[in-house]
Amino acid sequence: MTTEESKTSRNRKRKRQRNPKPSKEELIETTPKNQNNKKSQRDTKVQQHGGSSASSKRPKPSNFLDALRERLSGGQFRMLNEKLYTCSGKEALDYFKDDPEMFDMYHTGYQQQMSNWPELPVNSIINWLLSKSSSLVVADFGCGDARIAKSVKNKVFSFDLVSKNPSVIACDMSNTSLESSSVDVAVFCLSLMGTNYSSYIKEAHRVLRPSGMLLIAEVKSRFDPNNGGADPKDFVKAVCELGFTSVLKDFSNKMFILFHFKKKEQVNSDQKIIKWPELKACLYKRR
Ligand code: SAH
Repeated sequence: MTTEESKTSRNRKRKRQRNPKPSKEELIETTPKNQNNKKSQRDTKVQQHGGSSASSKRPKPSNFLDALRERLSGGQFRMLNEKLYTCSGKEALDYFKDDPEMFDMYHTGYQQQMSNWPELPVNSIINWLLSKSSSLVVADFGCGDARIAKSVKNKVFSFDLVSKNPSVIACDMSNTSLESSSVDVAVFCLSLMGTNYSSYIKEAHRVLRPSGMLLIAEVKSRFDPNNGGADPKDFVKAVCELGFTSVLKDFSNKMFILFHFKKKEQVNSDQKIIKWPELKACLYKRR
């Protein structure tokens, strides 16, 4: 390296240290640009009780070390997120059993991601529950910080891979401790992550009573067939073949899709093989 080159390199290094680049993640699959992002009335209610962090931007790192820490944890979040989307529920459970701190790491990153979303799907679900009788028993599959249980009066069974609070039951949600036909509402909010996601929906079908409701919120890009995502029609068909009727498909939000299904009264006697579409992993890249 010439003296001039090494001087320039030193200057660049100094400049980088003065202005460290904070780590930010971005959903790899961008959502269509001209989507209608109208706030529904239901979602405006959210502010009243949800403790939504959706519109609060996280603070900028104040110094180099903070920025570095943020960058490292951002990288770990992306790695964990990818892992959860590309392994089975059982593998994910074993992984976090060995290293429960990783679960905190994942959830810190998850909350940061969510703070960029204009509306949180969990709040739509909470509002739906608040509009129904509080006597309905709810199972929250992949509950995260158990926001649903904290926000409604209903009896809520909250399941996740790790229990960070005594009300959360740690398990792989394809195999819960609930009795068959014992709950009125089953919720999956951004939690159909494992490669064996159909086994989670089968478990929900088992624990739901006849006419019970299945509510699913998922990242929109996972259901964008033009971008390698699943065709929502194939997904709805598969869920219906399992023994549900489709009640609602809401594509109005920019970031997520909502599906509501009702469990059929009668179990299908002709058990045909269901073709579950692959749900594209929702990965993040650094930007
Ligand atoms: N429903 C919450 C959290 C969504 S993040 C919300 O909307 O805020 C997805 C959650 O699903 C994570 O906490 C993850 O640990 C959980 N999860 C993924 N696969 C799971 C499985 N097989 N069993 C239990 N929980 C699972």
